[in-house]
Amino acid sequence: MGLFGGTFDPPHVGHLVTAVNVAYELDLDVVVMMVANIPWQKQGTRDITGAEDRLALVSAAVAAVDRLQPGRHEIDLGGNSYTADTLRSLAADFPGAELFTIVGDDAAAGLPSWERHEEVVAQSRLVVVDRPGEPVELPGGVDWIRVEVPRLEVSSTDLRARFTDGRPLDYLVTNPVLEEIRRRGLYGVPIGQAGTDD
Ligand code: ATP
Ligand code: MG
Repeated sequence: MGLFGGTFDPPHVGHLVTAVNVAYELDLDVVVMMVANIPWQKQGTRDITGAEDRLALVSAAVAAVDRLQPGRHEIDLGGNSYTADTLRSLAADFPGAELFTIVGDDAAAGLPSWERHEEVVAQSRLVVVDRPGEPVELPGGVDWIRVEVPRLEVSSTDLRARFTDGRPLDYLVTNPVLEEIRRRGLYGVPIGQAGTDD
């Protein structure tokens, strides 16, 4: 089982292409796209969309793909989201499952700053994928599995700026996600605003 955690504000094709290709390459039964309840390392830097809204977007994103599942463990645990706790919770729900923690290289670089990161390393194998841009130095002392996936230069930060500026989001996020954003009126999009496909 793969644990692919994120804020997913919003989820985009970079996340989805990563999740599905890591599942394929490592022959994982499922990759759980785990929605952070409080992404404490991002808090205070900007307004973060509510966790239930972000979960609805992730659910819309993965509905059509069997091996990808939305995860609400961190929402149910409440408070700040720490991967060490999430892994415990997954291990309790799926006894005996072999756990893989999947991260982009930018997130991998921050591993030493994670709460109880030594537990994360002990409870799971760490999988890293490269994002476009400058190569990132990975923290030492960890047995990383590197998986090559198509590198897509997409970020949620850029997508939020696109909403603000009115630039197109087509093909950067999937249509079910765009529909859910409209339905919920997220990112300043008027609720139920007519789109290309409704
Ligand atoms: P933000 O710009 O708000 O930080 P993001 O696009 O980086 O958003 P996150 O929710 O922060 O998305 O990331 C969740 C996980 O997905 C992290 O491990 C991150 O490295 C990884 N990730 C995000 N975008 C990509 C991408 N384009 N390719 C590969 N991995 C990605
Ligand atoms: Mg990020």
